[in-house]
Amino acid sequence: MKLTVLGSSAGAPTRINPASGYLLEHGQTTVWVDAGTGTFMELAARVDPGQLDAVVLSHVHVDHASDLFGLYGYLAFGPSGQVPVPVYVTDGASDLFAGFARATGEHVLHHVLDFNEVGSGDETTIGPVAVRFGSSKHAVPNNIVRFEVDGRVLVYTGDAGPSHELMEMADGSDLFLCEATLQGTRDAQTYPFHLTAEEAGEAAAWAGVDHLVLTHISHNLDPEQSIAEASGRFAGRVSYAAPGTEFDV
Ligand SMILES: [Zn+2]
Repeated sequence: MKLTVLGSSAGAPTRINPASGYLLEHGQTTVWVDAGTGTFMELAARVDPGQLDAVVLSHVHVDHASDLFGLYGYLAFGPSGQVPVPVYVTDGASDLFAGFARATGEHVLHHVLDFNEVGSGDETTIGPVAVRFGSSKHAVPNNIVRFEVDGRVLVYTGDAGPSHELMEMADGSDLFLCEATLQGTRDAQTYPFHLTAEEAGEAAAWAGVDHLVLTHISHNLDPEQSIAEASGRFAGRVSYAAPGTEFDV
């Protein structure tokens, strides 16, 4: 598999880094993983959005989901492509998208996007890629996603606080794309629904991953410091999901 970082900015996009979004490719199979603000343009610069095999959204916060409407416009009003595109979302998310598009009845939204609501323990396949979902601890339902093909495993957390399920989902992965919104050591005031870089490192160590890639680092923080803090808890390779970076899995 090849993972391309379309954007990794937490919360809001910046001029040089869209919000969260990734392109996963394996042979002819292409998957858009998270559709954060600004990532549709980055996706379209690399592949034909009309030929996507699936979209997987970790959760419906705007910085992970808003650009799904870019794909909707592309498919519904031209240039179009192979439809419907399967979209894997959390429980209740289809109604949120349909509500924003005022998509009732036979609305075109339902002809171009095929929403599949999934949660912890659910599995599917996208071409040859096996996909398993888990739940994270976040302010809204969030799916952790485990992609596996030919014995290679990529796990993406979406947004997550610390939890045992997070570590179990990451178990033995070759590349663990883990949110690390925060820095410093957790105390009673630390926001419970995001991870510190130390906690990302601890999860990577527990899970025995090969390569930890930190993403969704808060905009006012230095990624090099996050790498240093994660490396204090995890002896393996640690990288930052800088926009445009390609990782082989
Ligand atoms: Zn979120």
